[in-house]
Amino acid sequence: MEKKNIDWENIGFGYIPTDKRFVANYKDGAWDEGGLTEDPNIVMNECAGVLQYAQTVFEGMKAYTTEDGHIVTFRPDLNAKRMVDSAKRLEMPPFPEDKFVDAIVQTVKANEAYVPPYGTGATLYIRPYMFGINPVIGVKPATDYQFRVFATPVGPYFKGGVKPLTLCVSDFDRAAPHGTGHIKAGLNYAMSLHAIVTAHANGFDENMYLDSATRTKVEETGGANFLFVTKDNTVVTPHSTTILPSITRRSLMYVAEHYLGLKVEERDVYFDEVKDFAECGLCGTAAVISPVGKIVNHGEEICFPSGMEQMGPTIAKLRDTLTGIQMGRIEAPEGWLKYID
Ligand SMILES: *Cc1c(COP(=O)(O)O)cnc(C)c1O
Repeated sequence: MEKKNIDWENIGFGYIPTDKRFVANYKDGAWDEGGLTEDPNIVMNECAGVLQYAQTVFEGMKAYTTEDGHIVTFRPDLNAKRMVDSAKRLEMPPFPEDKFVDAIVQTVKANEAYVPPYGTGATLYIRPYMFGINPVIGVKPATDYQFRVFATPVGPYFKGGVKPLTLCVSDFDRAAPHGTGHIKAGLNYAMSLHAIVTAHANGFDENMYLDSATRTKVEETGGANFLFVTKDNTVVTPHSTTILPSITRRSLMYVAEHYLGLKVEERDVYFDEVKDFAECGLCGTAAVISPVGKIVNHGEEICFPSGMEQMGPTIAKLRDTLTGIQMGRIEAPEGWLKYID
């Protein structure tokens, strides 16, 4: 397979169109077979449900080239399942899980020339999504939907090494109790844009959101879950019904327990105890795990002992182990890697 002539080491995290994308349509109560197309554009009615009432959900995942030259995706069955949960919450017809995985395989195979080679730091980002496409003017779910998958090569999230991030405790809320914080819906991102633009304008990299009911517990950032490491090396992640269940976070917790032999806890994490942790990281598909060096709460600073120059030792080990699994350098747990070729 001849790879595209792309400067893999220097691409950023942006959209580069690839050759093929997958499209399936839901009409008259059923999904069609779907298939690949070359057309990256979508033509829809001006009154489409997604345009008027934001009826859309998505997923994010990656394909990797392993050390021995195979192409794999990481736990796509969990993305398939999460998208079913997201769709149900927005009254959309779930896209069948086996067909989801098949659509991912077809899309990656058709764009094999865009899967960055091993060792470049780049990966193929995969974006499955679905939306209401027929005209909807009274507030109700659409009757027709489209499911699509496109892929785009992306560079390493961290250019020139991993620098710890500075976060601020946001005055805005991300998710309401019994709301939509636990699903991957575009609407959660639309309303977070003002908060992130404000955080950036104030010199911060990301927001830390607290639970909106009591503002005492740590939830997550706009697009990544938290992991903390205690001074006696227990890995702690917030438990909450209003955070998005990150597949990276779930995988890192498994790696911590079963590969590194660490104690792990998923529990309420009060903001008051954050100052006592030794390390803090943000996890998600894009960055795997990014170290946090500092959190600022209305002028009051929490500085983690790991500092602003490098990751703490436990987060570094977690990152190396998980990326080792994804790149085929370390044996993966049963079913974690889906081989495309
Ligand atoms: C996608 C997402 C994450 C990360 O989930 P992964 O499955 O690890 O990529 C975390 N938080 C939010 C709000 C997200 O949308």
